[in-house]
Amino acid sequence: MHDLVIREATLYDGSGAPPAVADLAVDGDRIAAVGAAPGPARSTLDGRGLALAPGFIDVHTHDDFAAVVHPDMAFKLEGGVTSCVVGNCGFGAAPHAAAAAMAKTLHPKLTLPEWRGYAGYMHRLEAHAPGVNIGVLVGHGTARLAAMGTEARAPAGPEMAAMKASLAEGLEAGALGLSSGLVYDPGRFASTDELVELASLMRGTGGLYATHMRDESTGLLGSVREAIGIGERAGVPVQISHHKASGRGAWGLVTESLKLIEAAQQRGLDVHADQYPYTAGSTILAAVYRDGKLRGAIGDLRGEDVVIASTESHPGWEGRSLAQIGAEMGCSPEQAAERVLAADQGVTCVLHVMSEDDVRTVMRHPSTMIGSDGIPTLEGKPHPRLYGTFARVLGRYAREEKLFSMEQAVYRMTGFAAAKFGLRDRGLLRAGAFADLVLFDAASIIDVGTFEDPKRRPAGIHAVFVNGAMAVANGQATGVRTGKVLRRA
Ligand SMILES: [Zn+2]
Repeated sequence: MHDLVIREATLYDGSGAPPAVADLAVDGDRIAAVGAAPGPARSTLDGRGLALAPGFIDVHTHDDFAAVVHPDMAFKLEGGVTSCVVGNCGFGAAPHAAAAAMAKTLHPKLTLPEWRGYAGYMHRLEAHAPGVNIGVLVGHGTARLAAMGTEARAPAGPEMAAMKASLAEGLEAGALGLSSGLVYDPGRFASTDELVELASLMRGTGGLYATHMRDESTGLLGSVREAIGIGERAGVPVQISHHKASGRGAWGLVTESLKLIEAAQQRGLDVHADQYPYTAGSTILAAVYRDGKLRGAIGDLRGEDVVIASTESHPGWEGRSLAQIGAEMGCSPEQAAERVLAADQGVTCVLHVMSEDDVRTVMRHPSTMIGSDGIPTLEGKPHPRLYGTFARVLGRYAREEKLFSMEQAVYRMTGFAAAKFGLRDRGLLRAGAFADLVLFDAASIIDVGTFEDPKRRPAGIHAVFVNGAMAVANGQATGVRTGKVLRRA
């Protein structure tokens, strides 16, 4: 007697193979059988007319602290996501004091419980399970902040040793790799050699180097070369985070950056990228406005391109551009940025900086998997990618625009992601794999949220299972929390 059988759904198995109608049986937290007539079950679900896929794996998130302070994780589950990779862009969950400083930006009103190191963070997640599975990257920026503050210089011997100890501790606990954020303080003060020295600790462990590169604008190609070079010299796989060309002056460069990835793959390097399916990005305003200019490493920006997403101190600014705020204050957008930051260092913003052609060029490329980069500030107006990323890839780019097949879209968010990040028994509909499942209507799935009204669950997602338990029923999170920590295979 099986615990559950989902009958006659159209199975997208996560491998990229064409779909097929079949039954799928679940026992406990695993898939027991895939095929015809698996036998009786305590409960059955009619899957006729619906698609059944492995739960979506969001390889690029900032949910480290959301998984602790909003553990139901409804904003992820209702979008079909069953696993999140946290610790991206150099922002990790340990050491705790440095991590907590970063967490204040995303969750200003919430206090974090304490934990010791990455092992402590993972144990905390196991003791208070979130709704989704969590895989952890060690954050270079957090390790550097803990070791040497925001010093704009190379680390001294003991400081480098402290960073290595943080990375080693995380890897020992089961972290999937190391991330960097080379536009942010303090990650931007790191040299290529510093990153090679750290990443070299992962050689032979399966850990990967994931990077928010130094310059995603007109310096994109140099940044991709640096990322690939770090992987090559350290002998580790590389994941280029949120691959894009940012700012008008950089548009079109993705054609060349994709060729750099292809050439590296032909040399035998394990190099891939992830992407969110929007022409707007989102980050902290402090990374956009520097030295009197709106750019950072993000490309030249106009005041109307930068829209405030969340600010605890002045909610009235949310949803408004720096051009609008400046006009109201009687000052330039740059001066408006200065004043906004003076009022609230932690303000986040949405940046309208990419071209739709580039988004499509990157998405179509076989090196690209899907990661939302969602920023889980549930107050304010977060970028709608937090809710809609996966439904948008399936509905808009696969079904409507036919950029690729539905099975290829599913593969980019399941089997491909699990293979790259070393997630054992995830991402595929196979007997013996964990029963992370999403049941959706391939004819109607679509993102619904907009920049004005982002906090909307996507349409067309019927049910989601995490480790065999029903976490979403009739499109709504059930409150069931059965996520596990995903340690490096
Ligand atoms: Zn990033």
